[in-house]
Amino acid sequence: MAVLFISDLHLDPERPDATRRFIDLMQHDARRAERVYILGDLFEAWVGDDDDDPRLLPIIAALADLTRSGVACFFMHGNRDFLVGAGFATRTGCRLLGDYETIDIYGEQLLLTHGDLLCTDDTRYMTLRATVRDAGWQRDFLAKSLAERRRIATDLRALSQAEIAGKSETIMDVNTATVARTMRDFGVRTLLHGHTHRPGIHRFTLDGHDAARIVLGAWYEQGSVVRWDESGFALDTVV
Ligand code: MN
Repeated sequence: MAVLFISDLHLDPERPDATRRFIDLMQHDARRAERVYILGDLFEAWVGDDDDDPRLLPIIAALADLTRSGVACFFMHGNRDFLVGAGFATRTGCRLLGDYETIDIYGEQLLLTHGDLLCTDDTRYMTLRATVRDAGWQRDFLAKSLAERRRIATDLRALSQAEIAGKSETIMDVNTATVARTMRDFGVRTLLHGHTHRPGIHRFTLDGHDAARIVLGAWYEQGSVVRWDESGFALDTVV
């Protein structure tokens, strides 16, 4: 049985195509999987588990149906949906993971992370991240009305788009020294992440050993999924 990995779906009620592809994956391929890992940015924005937008319900239901069918589903935060919390976990049956998770996959140690923590050249983003990941900031934000939270999320997205437009491609990719240090720290030779929206398989040498960094793609024009079974892994697109 396969293990599936996805990230950066950026599901948004305004873009129903990605939601349709996601629900289709949950209802078919994922049902035959042993485990599903969502490595962050499932949602374009998440303003709190109490969000009552009815357009989110089919997504929640697809995850709840999957976990009820016996497939374990794990969720890691991205830079867009870092406010996904215990309420979401209860409603979907997904288990929330920390920023890094090492898993055993067919005898291999695989390190999972969203990917934003690897982009250490982007110091402005790292500063913003420290702010919004602060428990006090999150408490204050979640105490605001849903309408106000939605307004702030829209403003933050506009700000992020303006920031991205002014940043070079290199700054927004992973820092290779950070990648090596992180893999060394966790004692792995294989790393899987998303976030950069640059799907690919990078093979390199780490301390004299073969190493690999697998990058999931975003779900804007098509989906991206890593399927891993006893014969190895494949980075596929989902149409
Ligand atoms: Mn991201």
